[in-house]
Amino acid sequence: MHKLPENIVNLSAASTDTVPLTESMAGNCTLEVLRLDKIDPVISGNKWFKLKYYLEQALAKGQNSVLSFGGAWSNHIVATAFAARKAGLQSIGIIRGERPADFSPSLQKAAGAGMQLVFVSREAYNQKNDPAFIKQLEDKYHHPCIIPEGGAGEPGIKGATEITRLMKPGHYTHLLCAVGTGTLLAGLVQGTTRNHQVIGIPVLKGFDNWLPPGIAETNRQRVKVLTGYHMGGYAKKNEQLFEFMNRFYFKTHIPTDFVYTGKLFFSIFDLLKKNYFPAASRLLAIHSGGLQGNDSLPPKTLVF
Ligand SMILES: *Cc1c(COP(=O)(O)O)cnc(C)c1O
Repeated sequence: MHKLPENIVNLSAASTDTVPLTESMAGNCTLEVLRLDKIDPVISGNKWFKLKYYLEQALAKGQNSVLSFGGAWSNHIVATAFAARKAGLQSIGIIRGERPADFSPSLQKAAGAGMQLVFVSREAYNQKNDPAFIKQLEDKYHHPCIIPEGGAGEPGIKGATEITRLMKPGHYTHLLCAVGTGTLLAGLVQGTTRNHQVIGIPVLKGFDNWLPPGIAETNRQRVKVLTGYHMGGYAKKNEQLFEFMNRFYFKTHIPTDFVYTGKLFFSIFDLLKKNYFPAASRLLAIHSGGLQGNDSLPPKTLVF
């Protein structure tokens, strides 16, 4: 049985940075950022944590490959390709939609890391959680370890709880993160105690009256999902967002990505301006990485 190598990412690079806030804007609130973007250029942020137990499972079972799902711009697909290669596993990516003539930067990177890319119709892709479809894939690709889209599921949540080990214990009143599948959000809730509010900012439409999977009844009232910040939907972008991301970088030297963390920090500043947080709140934003996604923007859109 092979073990997962220790050094796939560099966890000790995850600093906690302070964002300067003006008194008039923030009352006595403080804002810190857990820089998970720094643990690896590609296997960054929450993706590593969500993949970890799937990779471990594959090695423990003697499987020699992993298979997962994503769109052409998926951070998860690229992270899976790179992490699998470092773990000595092969990887297969089931990609939504027709094979494009030109690969997106994400697909180029995934293919470059040795991932076998399989393009399927949207109809087929939508069966990604259907046991019969998964059985077909298992038979066809020699029984790989199946990782659900986005690294969702129990092993993904379990990995995400470990992010809380990198935080100053007991210090924060509010944790804030971007939400795709909600696996990261669920992990932050499971990894913390009653004293922490955990706020998720969905970057897609359709999260009204939604709570992440795996949240115990007793934890529900400390989870908030604020749905007003998707800016039109997944990967939708505008000048206001780019201006914010550039200004934020000038002020903090923290780069953000336009799909997730740009919208997260935009929302935090908006909430601070609106006095959403009680006085003297101590906020921790999770920088969940994803910077490789900015490669799809035209040059000079961002200053970093
Ligand atoms: C995938 C991703 C997320 C979303 O994480 P979920 O666990 O799916 O909610 C957030 N931020 C970044 C940068 C991501 O790449």
